[in-house]
Amino acid sequence: MNNNVDVAIAGAGIAGCLLARNLARDGHRVAVIEKSKREDAGHDWWDTIKIATFARVGMPEPEPPELMSTRHEATVYLPLETKPLTAPPRPESIHVDRKLLEQRQIRYAEEAGAELLFGAKATGPLLDGDRVAGMGVETADGQKIELRAKITIDAAGMSGALRSKMPEKFGFPRQVERKDMFVTYREIRNNTTDSRDDLLIFGKNNGVVWVNRAEAGMVDFFAGAINFPGRPEPRDIVNEMIRKTPEAGDRIMRGGYGAPIPVRHCFDSFVAPGFMLCGDSACHCSPIDGSGMASSMIAADHASKVAHAALENGDTSVAALWPYIGAYKREQGVPFVGLDAVQKFMVSEPKINLELLFTRGVLKIEEFWGSGGGAGGNKLKMLLRLIKLADRPLFVRRLIASVGIGAKLKEHYMNFPEKYDPAEFAAWVNEKQRLFAELPPAMIPPR
Ligand SMILES: Cc1cc2nc3c(=O)[nH]c(=O)nc-3n(C[C@H](O)[C@H](O)[C@H](O)COP(=O)(O)OP(=O)(O)OC[C@H]3O[C@@H](n4cnc5c(N)ncnc54)[C@H](O)[C@@H]3O)c2cc1C
Repeated sequence: MNNNVDVAIAGAGIAGCLLARNLARDGHRVAVIEKSKREDAGHDWWDTIKIATFARVGMPEPEPPELMSTRHEATVYLPLETKPLTAPPRPESIHVDRKLLEQRQIRYAEEAGAELLFGAKATGPLLDGDRVAGMGVETADGQKIELRAKITIDAAGMSGALRSKMPEKFGFPRQVERKDMFVTYREIRNNTTDSRDDLLIFGKNNGVVWVNRAEAGMVDFFAGAINFPGRPEPRDIVNEMIRKTPEAGDRIMRGGYGAPIPVRHCFDSFVAPGFMLCGDSACHCSPIDGSGMASSMIAADHASKVAHAALENGDTSVAALWPYIGAYKREQGVPFVGLDAVQKFMVSEPKINLELLFTRGVLKIEEFWGSGGGAGGNKLKMLLRLIKLADRPLFVRRLIASVGIGAKLKEHYMNFPEKYDPAEFAAWVNEKQRLFAELPPAMIPPR
């Protein structure tokens, strides 16, 4: 591998591969460091993504077997499980086989000319004065390499292999806080019947549980819970669901493990001199359910355009990389920061209120998903429906206040500073923190 490149990327995941393809296609020398072996890259389960994402980032749509089913109707319960609701089919969302998608992305990156090194770990950033000048790499056979680059990108997922080792002066959080992450477990068993029902319990243990039978011959069990002290083990929740599901066979066909997922709004800045964050490493994911494939691809699309311009102009300073942050925030950060306000509000409320919000029809499941947390953005419709909660005036007051803060946060994200000005950025961060501080504090369940 060439030890001196234009762009060095940590992580050949959803974001890293798209960055590598785009930047290599633009004529830059790109190296990607991936800790997994080539054949192990990508989860062995399927995930849900809006099909339009592929056109948005200039990738051919998946075909079978990578393309699995579309999202069909699901029975949804709220945490107290009092009344089943129905979430209508979402034909715009598909299941993709993650391993096949990842292998396709690796192929695109290599065909574009990027060099990928598998079984090698990014160990930390290389610093040259005040700028990042590459990364340390440890290869599968224990060799230590200094990989030098004009731009270094951390696309290594939530743990942020490089971000977590950046000196404090660059201002990145080293770790994602417990209250901002889901811990998960997923196990896919053989389905001994031909039933294809979908069940989702939303808000249980401040998280999500599903039993999904959309894929023929398989039952997919998932549990994710916010990492509050005293939370139950997702694996125990899945085992309980398996016990209650007679058609779940004995064979583990996929999964059988979990991985943490960030569930918070994206970080304030994703850039430093010669350095960028992309994907889960910058918390480019939905604060409600942790989905982050589409948003990581959109982030990679913006990041690669800005990195390309910076390399062409020979300027990789913070000011040159800054447009990436605003471009992402305006497209994807806006709905997600609204969802973070909703998530923090819901977690702080007694579960009965969340239950009534949906079971009395104030908010419909299909409006909630993908809407940024409002009744399809129709304030009048929402206000009229609030009459159904007339017996809970204090809850309604808190709900209206939280929705208002969510709207202000979205507007604030739209107004992210166009140009890098440290004082203006600090004022923007202060105002964002002030708005979040107005939300009720997250409830910590007793141990
Ligand atoms: C159980 C589960 C279910 C999910 N379901 C969905 C879903 O249905 N829809 C959806 O949109 N999203 C879903 N997600 C989230 C989605 O997987 C992530 O948001 C997305 O993969 C983020 O892409 P990324 O490129 O940032 O990180 P990743 O895709 O995780 O890629 C990071 C890469 O970096 C590598 N790496 C890590 N550390 C190092 C290191 N030190 N050196 C070198 N390489 C390193 C990793 O091996 C990995 O290949 C789910 C996540 C989980 C855990």
